[in-house]
Amino acid sequence: MLTHLECTRCGDRYPADRPQSVCPNDAGVLYARYDLDKIKRSFSPARLAGRAPTMWRYDAVLPEADPVTLGEGFTPMLPSREYPNVFIKDEGLNPTGSFKARGLSACVTMARRFGLKKLAIPSAGNAAGALAAYAAAAALEAHIFMPKDVPSANRIECDYYGAQVTLVDGLISDCARKVAELKDSESWKKDGWFDVSTTKEPYRVEGKKTMGYEVAEQLGWTMPQGIIYPTGGGVGLLGMWKAFEEMQVLGWIGRERPKMITVQSSGCAPIVKAWDEGKSAADMWANAATLAAGLRVPKPYADYLILDILKKSKGTAVAATDEEILEATRHWAKVEGIFAAPEGAACLVAYRKLRASGFFKPEDTVVLFNTGSGLKYLDVLDTRVDSARVGAGDSPAQSAQSDKPTARQIGGIIGPY
Ligand SMILES: [Zn+2]
Repeated sequence: MLTHLECTRCGDRYPADRPQSVCPNDAGVLYARYDLDKIKRSFSPARLAGRAPTMWRYDAVLPEADPVTLGEGFTPMLPSREYPNVFIKDEGLNPTGSFKARGLSACVTMARRFGLKKLAIPSAGNAAGALAAYAAAAALEAHIFMPKDVPSANRIECDYYGAQVTLVDGLISDCARKVAELKDSESWKKDGWFDVSTTKEPYRVEGKKTMGYEVAEQLGWTMPQGIIYPTGGGVGLLGMWKAFEEMQVLGWIGRERPKMITVQSSGCAPIVKAWDEGKSAADMWANAATLAAGLRVPKPYADYLILDILKKSKGTAVAATDEEILEATRHWAKVEGIFAAPEGAACLVAYRKLRASGFFKPEDTVVLFNTGSGLKYLDVLDTRVDSARVGAGDSPAQSAQSDKPTARQIGGIIGPY
């Protein structure tokens, strides 16, 4: 049912039967297009009943290929214990502990189908772990380029999955430059290399769009009033918006759309800045720094698409400070029983702000995306605990810590500290 790829800038069409990167004319992001009328005649939501609870239950709207799967997708839609009408979509329960599993499952599936051998990725952390896992499952080589200060879980998991890891002294944008340099090498074409960077190949968006299908299915084929999404590269935002458009053509939903909300860290908020300034593209964010490693993306490649979606959906963009993010991470863990990635907990900060400003009413159904498990950030969160204890600051996160005994001694029988 996959018919062709289409440029999101100029609309030019490209064949989908071979590996494709970005549009050769204008470097626009390419989207996979399907014969939706044909799918509409042969498939309906009723046929989803009894299917395996993975993202591949939506294979009617995914490329036809033998999936490289580790059971990704169909994560829980948990009603908030704190706010009626708020749901937390817990992507931390995916294989490799983050939402990146979806995109890389689809991407590696297509890479194997096209006979590619060596997959290169610049990553802020979790995409690296996901590529490493799916490449291992597909018996392909993963070549990872990530900042040397990524959470240690990302480094260790890539090593265990057998990936080739290059630690870069810089940000994801510097890692992307390393991959670009590699393309000039003689081996690139000869040895089946391929760049699977965010939105520089069409299928990670296809994997991520299943989040949009799940939101609809898990809410009984209705649309929420809002979706809050921590935005680094923004693939999930693109994917979900694409899913809603497809579902409307398929007749699964109507014209209604959720307001799409980007949340970023105030230490790296290129989309928030561009949105506030009314721009249609983002500037490179200088000196990006945040504990939420996945949000440390100084300029997302698909910035023009992200900003367009915020506009079309009547959404907005919100920044959260690291202190607010850390407090929200702790709050969610205590109140919801969800140990979230800092990026995910940033959604709570944004929701509170949007409730306070009246942007969202108490009766609005809003989905907050927890994009990963806090377990992948233990060193990051633990360092913050240490520095909070030493510092005399008075942020909520720090005061929450001040009366605690030395963390290492808690449950001393577990030792050997
Ligand atoms: Zn184009």
